[in-house]
Amino acid sequence: MQDVVEKVYEQVVARNRGEVEFHQAVHEVLESLGPVIAKHPHYAEGALLERIVEPERQIMFRVPWVDDAGQVHVNRGFRIEFNSALGPYKGGLRFHPSVNAGIIKFLGFEQIFKNALTAQGIGGGKGGSDFDPHGRSDAEVMRFCQSFMTELARHIGPSTDVPAGDIGVGGREIGYMFGQYKRLRNSYDAGVLTGKGLAWGGSLVRTEATGYGTVLFAQSMLATKGESLEGKKVLVSGAGNVAIYAIEKAQQLGATPITFSDSSGYVVDEAGVDLELLKQVKEVERGRVADYVERRPGARLVAGGSVWDVPGDVALPCATQNELDGDAANTLLRGGCGVVSEGANMPSTPEAVEAFQKAGILFGPGKAANAGGVATSALEMEQNAGRTRWDFATAEAKLTGIMADIHDSCVAAAEEYGRPGDYVLGANAAGFTRVADVMIAHGIV
Ligand code: NDP
Repeated sequence: MQDVVEKVYEQVVARNRGEVEFHQAVHEVLESLGPVIAKHPHYAEGALLERIVEPERQIMFRVPWVDDAGQVHVNRGFRIEFNSALGPYKGGLRFHPSVNAGIIKFLGFEQIFKNALTAQGIGGGKGGSDFDPHGRSDAEVMRFCQSFMTELARHIGPSTDVPAGDIGVGGREIGYMFGQYKRLRNSYDAGVLTGKGLAWGGSLVRTEATGYGTVLFAQSMLATKGESLEGKKVLVSGAGNVAIYAIEKAQQLGATPITFSDSSGYVVDEAGVDLELLKQVKEVERGRVADYVERRPGARLVAGGSVWDVPGDVALPCATQNELDGDAANTLLRGGCGVVSEGANMPSTPEAVEAFQKAGILFGPGKAANAGGVATSALEMEQNAGRTRWDFATAEAKLTGIMADIHDSCVAAAEEYGRPGDYVLGANAAGFTRVADVMIAHGIV
């Protein structure tokens, strides 16, 4: 890391004590910026780097709610409005017991560069709560969402900050939060949240977008080597929104996904995942992966262990941060894996990324490979603003075009800065320069 960049990183660590995921995300971006700053030293002037690592605004609030037994709970809510150079803050809300300021900050920081890569005029933000929706009734989830939105509503708006879903936040939660926002504001601002239901301002393809985009990114990477996903064995982690639609698109492109997982273990289905059954178990019944195995002869559940122990050609980590470490990366490489496309945010640890890059395999970092979700959220905002709705084919064609452009921007930036094929450098450099140029144009704000 260059001296000027190293100093900024040390300041981030000192100022944000204990926020290890945030440190990790900042380190990964700053590490890539050496060649960019060497070529364009003005990016290190005017405290631009110091400004970009400091959120514009951090909101933390109490979320009290009452469970079905009448007991009062207090959770903590967050919204980090990180950077609005390119447009309103945009990024999801995560409901998971592991949520804290450092995790939301890492996600918000990543979101700045991801959103810049989509070229759609959206700034970076993220939010959420340490609330755990698992095992809660619909009524409990609704009361929590209403309490959460009662505070969040004063900070967001269609031209200010537009949240969406993430881990633990899907169509149900977005619906409850939208209902409460509308009630508080007495205003039908469809563009204040994305991931809405189709009957009230949602966009076709938003549900599928992140998983589809991750697979399209893998396909584009393979095309640079004259290959495709056809006939490839695919390993997927997670069994949520991103994982399910990554499996769907991989199947459509002729590959065979054979795994998925949740926090109770992973499933290997050598015959190929039965997608309809998986959707029934996870989307309709809100069940566990074991429920799939009970109904699917030939599939096996491995409780504990790592899904990355299974040999395959392509790995799509679609669960959570740091789920794939250096040992897992080396096991994947020994098993013949030649492509990793990250559906989750920062799922590979720095050691894993290093192992993939050393081995020279195709590695697509999350901020590029999973940008299809936020890109389609921006398409949802566009439809809301125009009071219109596109059909599935139109929305999917736009997503496909955006993913191809993101891929090509990464390739071009990696070449420009002397590391052809390095998608980590490419994504960071391309995303950073787009935001930095606009921050310079806006002056010291
Ligand atoms: P979901 O809540 O729909 O699914 C998450 C899945 O990952 C579940 O199967 C969950 O299992 C598993 N998981 C979560 N945390 C852990 C953990 N600590 N250990 C093991 N398994 C875990 O979330 P999404 O599919 O929406 O999000 C998955 C990833 O994709 C996240 O990193 C998210 O930030 C990223 N992402 C999502 C986008 C979107 O549009 N939804 C956009 C871009 C990125 P369990 O139910 O047992 O917890």
